[in-house]
Amino acid sequence: MSDLLTVDAAIARILRQINPLPAETVSLADSLGRVLAEDVRSEVDLPPFANSSMDGYAVRAADITGASAQTPVVLRVVMDIPAGSMPARAVGQGEAARIMTGAPLPAGADAIVPVEQTDTPFSQRGDAPLPDQVAILKASRAGDYVRLVGEDIRAGQVVLAAGTTLRPADIGVLAALGHAQVRVTRQPRAAILSTGDELVAVEEPLAPGKIRDVNGYTLAALVAQYGGIAIRIPVARDTLDDIRRRFNEALDSQPDVILSSAGVSVGSFDLVRTVLAALGEVNFWRVNLRPGKPLAFGHLRGVPFFGLPGNPVSAMVTFDVFVRPVLLKLSNRLDIMLTARALTGEALSSDGRRSYVRVTLKEIDGNLVATTTGTQSSGALLSMVLADGLLIIPEGMTHVPAGTPLDVRLLRARFGE
Ligand code: AMP
Ligand code: MG
Repeated sequence: MSDLLTVDAAIARILRQINPLPAETVSLADSLGRVLAEDVRSEVDLPPFANSSMDGYAVRAADITGASAQTPVVLRVVMDIPAGSMPARAVGQGEAARIMTGAPLPAGADAIVPVEQTDTPFSQRGDAPLPDQVAILKASRAGDYVRLVGEDIRAGQVVLAAGTTLRPADIGVLAALGHAQVRVTRQPRAAILSTGDELVAVEEPLAPGKIRDVNGYTLAALVAQYGGIAIRIPVARDTLDDIRRRFNEALDSQPDVILSSAGVSVGSFDLVRTVLAALGEVNFWRVNLRPGKPLAFGHLRGVPFFGLPGNPVSAMVTFDVFVRPVLLKLSNRLDIMLTARALTGEALSSDGRRSYVRVTLKEIDGNLVATTTGTQSSGALLSMVLADGLLIIPEGMTHVPAGTPLDVRLLRARFGE
């Protein structure tokens, strides 16, 4: 066993050994949630041509300076410009063109009069004959309801930075810029292993002394939540042969990281350690955090390996603290750590390790107030289900009076109802 490590030192030590994954190309339709591998720079102006932002009439603003409902200005309608077509001619003095939203502004015109500001409404069917003239009921200024070339995006502008996790709006920009394919970082593949004779799969009946495998599911869901692909390996029994077989199965699944839970605690059988020693180099770290000691980290045949604690809450918390940053680094993703500052709603105590306390959050008099979610046993599943966040008691702080401001790692976006 090595010395007691601080949480931050352990994270830094781990991250030094993680290299980002290479890029791959996916179709735009499959890019939601993927991480952009390179900056996207626009080669064009958007909009690419000046166009109308309303259904109406393209006019010369100077022609209608005095227009009002009492003193309408009548213009000759010389053409129709549906969206997707080009104007047949320019608009001259005393002239107007019927124009649809998104259609190009004709030469000569400098403003759009919305159809509601004329005496000539459009038919709903859109096939109304072109009127000979239109009475304008309101004055316009040059530029009214005109979308200018490049007012949204300029040629040469970086619109999306490498590391961006693509959201629907980002995908819209990529579509507008003509990217049918996108360069994204390959998704990290994480093999997930549970070990223990007491564990049964969720679809199997429970027998006396048995519990259901929880970590196999929580860890797989966490991997997916951070953009990875989870590969679930069947539960390994507490025998050398079975543990060896399942670890080999995990290695065969071409993982970028291997996550196992249980079997690494001091009191447990040393079976997992024996198998690990044969497959690679793994260090058992005493990290100054609660819940979550001990943590095993190393490499199995070159693949980064985490041996997480067996208790479900400890497994989830250590995932959040140590594995999540690894997934983010593997996928070259800009950090998405969400924290808030909250006041403790009650007096708390800690043993001096950095402690992650499950809390609910409520806004009271403009402050977020953190209240513990009942039992903090590292096996208590509901303590995580109820939690809005993990309140972080720093190393060395053993007494925390009520009202102390501390950081909270947010686990959901909405709370305080
Ligand atoms: P161990 O590290 O093997 O001593 O396990 C510590 C505790 O975590 C024990 O109470 C185990 O039953 C429990 N545990 C281990 N693995 C799992 C799992 N996959 N799902 C639920 N509980 C587990
Ligand atoms: Mg066990």
